[in-house]
Amino acid sequence: MRGKLVAGNWKMNGGLAQNKALLEAVIAGMAGVQGMGCAVCVPYPYLFQAQSLLQDTAIAWGAQNLSQHDKGAFTGEVSSAMLLDFGCKYVLVGHSERRAIYGEDDATVALKFEAAQKAGLTPILCVGETLQERESGITEAVVARQLDAVTGKFGVAALSKAVVAYEPVWAIGTGKTASPEQAQAVHAFIRGKIASQNKDVADGLVIQYGGSVKGSNAAELFGMPDIDGGLIGGASLDAQEFLAICHAAKR
Ligand code: PEP
Repeated sequence: MRGKLVAGNWKMNGGLAQNKALLEAVIAGMAGVQGMGCAVCVPYPYLFQAQSLLQDTAIAWGAQNLSQHDKGAFTGEVSSAMLLDFGCKYVLVGHSERRAIYGEDDATVALKFEAAQKAGLTPILCVGETLQERESGITEAVVARQLDAVTGKFGVAALSKAVVAYEPVWAIGTGKTASPEQAQAVHAFIRGKIASQNKDVADGLVIQYGGSVKGSNAAELFGMPDIDGGLIGGASLDAQEFLAICHAAKR
């Protein structure tokens, strides 16, 4: 039976003092909470801090990106092995900001997914349509293409050790949340598509929703049958908001 997972994506935010206060508040607020998973994906320089503060807690940590290469002359890049050195469990791949700002295409995202899995990290594969794509009626085609880039290369079984995050680009950082029904429709599409290839993988697949999730809308979103928690950007920087979202994911 799949559980719910709430993961924070701090993006390029934070600082040593601020992170310490945030993580200590999250640790305190999550003490004794069971029945859901909680993680934070922090900027690379803070992985050591996250590891030091979180290692004896139930909160996992991870990164927001990784290189598709193992090592070598790739200035500025960070490998899967380096993430493992700092105890990462998760790594985001294909976040819409990486796709849009840094030009990561489906093929690159698939290679990053593979690099993460080969190292034993759990990739959180982000998929989602832009506003223009939604208005053109091609949401499902876009999400299918993004999923196929991975499953077409590595097989659908590769998703048995991964998380998918459905993040409509028009809802990220905009304050516009997909309604629970809009999000559920795409989540059901994703699960149905995977189920047509492997029902067990589909049944076990954690599909997070991401896009302006807050303490005030999390319970409604997480109450939908195919929404298994959330990938949280802005609200993950505020301990009380993040904790409210985590608590909304408890069974
Ligand atoms: C994100 O960055 O993955 C995200 C969902 O951001 P926000 O929650 O701020 O919309």
